[in-house]
Amino acid sequence: QTTLKSKAKDPYPDWKPGEPVPYAALCTTFSLIEMTTKRLIIQAHCSLFLRQVLRLTPGDLLPTVLLMINKLAADYAGVELGIGESLIMKAVGETTGRSLQVIKQHQKEIGDLGLVAVKSRANQPTMFKPKPLTVRGVHKGLMDIATVTGNGAQGRKVDAIKKLLSAADGHMSGKVDITKDKGGASEAKFVVRFLEGKLRLGLAEKTVLVSLAQAMVCHEIESKQESGAVPSTDELAKGESILKEVYSELPSYEVIIPAMLEHGIFKLHENCKLQPGVPLKPMLAKPTKAITEVLDRFENQTFTCEYKYDGERAQIHYVAKDSRMQYKGPAAAATKTSTGAISAIFSRNSEDLSKKYPDILAKLNTWVKSDTKSFVLDCETVAWDLVEKKVLPFQQLMTRKKKDVKIEDVKVKVCVFAFDLLFLNGEAVVKKSLRDRRELLSNAFNPIEGEFAFATHMDGQELDDIQHFLDESVKASCEGLMVKMLDGKESGYEPSKRSRNWLKIKKDYLSGIGDSLDLVVLGAYYGRGKRTSVYGAFLLACYNSNTDTYETVCNIGTGFSEAILEELYTQLKDIVIDRPKPFYSHSTGNPHQPDVWFEPKYVWEVKTADLTLSPRYKAGSKEGVDPSGEKGISLRFPRFIKLRDDKKPDMATSSRQVAEMYRKQESVTKNKGPSVDDDF
Ligand code: ATP
Repeated sequence: QTTLKSKAKDPYPDWKPGEPVPYAALCTTFSLIEMTTKRLIIQAHCSLFLRQVLRLTPGDLLPTVLLMINKLAADYAGVELGIGESLIMKAVGETTGRSLQVIKQHQKEIGDLGLVAVKSRANQPTMFKPKPLTVRGVHKGLMDIATVTGNGAQGRKVDAIKKLLSAADGHMSGKVDITKDKGGASEAKFVVRFLEGKLRLGLAEKTVLVSLAQAMVCHEIESKQESGAVPSTDELAKGESILKEVYSELPSYEVIIPAMLEHGIFKLHENCKLQPGVPLKPMLAKPTKAITEVLDRFENQTFTCEYKYDGERAQIHYVAKDSRMQYKGPAAAATKTSTGAISAIFSRNSEDLSKKYPDILAKLNTWVKSDTKSFVLDCETVAWDLVEKKVLPFQQLMTRKKKDVKIEDVKVKVCVFAFDLLFLNGEAVVKKSLRDRRELLSNAFNPIEGEFAFATHMDGQELDDIQHFLDESVKASCEGLMVKMLDGKESGYEPSKRSRNWLKIKKDYLSGIGDSLDLVVLGAYYGRGKRTSVYGAFLLACYNSNTDTYETVCNIGTGFSEAILEELYTQLKDIVIDRPKPFYSHSTGNPHQPDVWFEPKYVWEVKTADLTLSPRYKAGSKEGVDPSGEKGISLRFPRFIKLRDDKKPDMATSSRQVAEMYRKQESVTKNKGPSVDDDF
């Protein structure tokens, strides 16, 4: 706070107004952040740096923020680096004139590719001083790596990495002692870590957002008033709340940052609103394991139950031809339909699914009523049996091709079940009550059997009503129920939040722990007997978003068919790494180390009988579940259910959720104990 309110010293002096932001300046800030674990100090470094960017080179604010959050573009743009550890090692070796073997050896010893790059770089005599890297140059260089396609793509990616690495650290000289200084502000280290997908600074995206708001408020107040003016605490809080709210409805720095620079932060919400074309992070539900738990939660409040369809979440965006001015979203995520309307469909991850579901997009205009000109719908796409006229299992949906689907080739038909409306005819409706949104939804669309339907709902409030409706949902091949707050402010749509205003009751888990878990595969053990040519068991982990680490939670060898084991082997053998990543939190002392380790990539849904404490695993060990801090939570009798390819590894079940499930289980047995209320 003090640094924020005073006229702070620039963290990086050698950069003149209008000059591109030096990458070295960003790396200096990164290394300051790396030295602390205190969130407020991290935030202060971050906002101080962003203030300097705003004052000297505001045009570079967008790439600066993107590099800070380890992204090249918003998720819906579908920009992926598409490189693994071996490609980076190759590039580091070739840049520094070392063999791949030496680099691999260093990687084995040091365990952090970023530091391997620093070590190799520091020992190399610098013949000439390369042109210093800039933030916009690094962003562009990384973008070039991501967009390489076609023949020889891998080789060209390596060349592009080499280009960045050879320009890195022109200013560094002398040897770096990796064991002592962690590579400091080395540019090579942060380039490599970006390529690996983890900066490992403990810099959460939320912190960058808050820092950006603070920097913007300070900058505006300073530039409007006499020098020495400082923002009040109220002004800082107001700026922060505006930016957070705008971002939750419009999670795209590409749209927000230019608007903020043009209109200022205090007018941002008037100029930047939920808009078709930019997907929102969906609202999520809390698990429950008994209908009585639902009744306790919603005591004295009206709620509604809906079928929980078992398909794929889809957010559908649409703007009719005569209202196209409303579609301000990036063109990449827009498909023109035959009627001239613009539409797009996004996954739970905000990835563009338009090429997977052209059959849905082609029919949109037949589902809308004539005065429905634009909308954003939250729904579930479900495989549909045209003959029996009923929902098919999730597995059927998974057999559909994921990309470049041609309508004439579609074999598995889908029916869209709409359960929420977020935007209608030019206006965001997320703040309205669910009852009102539901009414708007039913007035704006025409259901068509087997193509488009409203989620079946029931508004009875008694235990018997819910039990009956749950049985009905199971008969209709659904997973269970979603129970939602119906009236009042609390029933508004809360983007990106796992909220207690939405509860899920899954039929299978009523007697178990309430929900399945989505876990990341970190390692595997070779099979025995019939399974010798494949992996026979795996090490799984949950994700700790506070420390940005993966915490081990169980070994699993049950629930796999022979065919799936073969498929998993083919998938996983390509992402084998030589040793565990430094951001894997696993127990090193036990004799059951996996035979191979993997990059964190795949998420699997897993069921368990219950949760228990174990010294072999680390899940939730930082959440205070074990007073000695030595034991983590582990799954008893875990069973593989399915691949969750709609989830990225950092969307796996969080350590906090695992701890919450564990405590809930404890509180059921002991009839006490707190329940954590939020995911974050
Ligand atoms: P799950 O594994 O249960 O799908 P999740 O983490 O993907 O979990 P949750 O918020 O926990 O998401 O559960 C809600 C999910 O259920 C939604 O993401 C959506 O895909 C699906 N769903 C099906 N029917 C509904 C409905 N009527 N309302 C809301 N979500 C629904």
